[in-house]
Amino acid sequence: MDKKNLVMFLAIMAILVALSYVNMFGEGAELVRKGKPIIREAFSDTDYKMEITNDGLLVKFASHVANEYEGEFLAVYAYDADGNHVMKMKRVVNGNIAINKDEMPSFVASFEGNVIKDIEKAEQSLRFLEILQDAEREGRNFGVERCLMGKRCIAICPAAAIEVLIRDDESNGRIIPEIDYDKCIEGGLCASRCPTDLIVT
Ligand code: SF4
Repeated sequence: MDKKNLVMFLAIMAILVALSYVNMFGEGAELVRKGKPIIREAFSDTDYKMEITNDGLLVKFASHVANEYEGEFLAVYAYDADGNHVMKMKRVVNGNIAINKDEMPSFVASFEGNVIKDIEKAEQSLRFLEILQDAEREGRNFGVERCLMGKRCIAICPAAAIEVLIRDDESNGRIIPEIDYDKCIEGGLCASRCPTDLIVT
């Protein structure tokens, strides 16, 4: 390489390095203190209605929820007689979630205290609608919730400020992440990874 080409090469390299530095700085700036992560309020009775038909369960969402979640997944859940959280994950379509009477649940979570200990795929023999109707009859918690239990918030947090999912006994037994605000650095990654915006900043 002659001297002229070498100078040109070095100039291009210097520009590339400068651009990548600007890019890194920009990304870094985005991560800096996005604010305190907040767990959103549980859905209320005015957010949806459940209807049991001959075909199964129909969850009809109010327009503000339907608009937010159209095409996205939410979870319908009910507690079984052993205190396990039984969940069916389904997409909102035309403002509704429809669960056929023969559909099995997606996951069954068991607890130690109010902390989720295990999350397992549901057995094929289980029928979600039967478990929900049983919960309703026996006065156990059931409803619609945002947490899909994929634990993305736990996996992404660089400060280990979210380590477990817990049962929120004050909100009908829905599942929420437990955020340790003493460890939280307010970088906002948990909120950015939560697929349902249960965590926001
Ligand atoms: S990222 Fe959101 S949906 Fe997934 S486990 Fe955490 S709170 Fe639940």
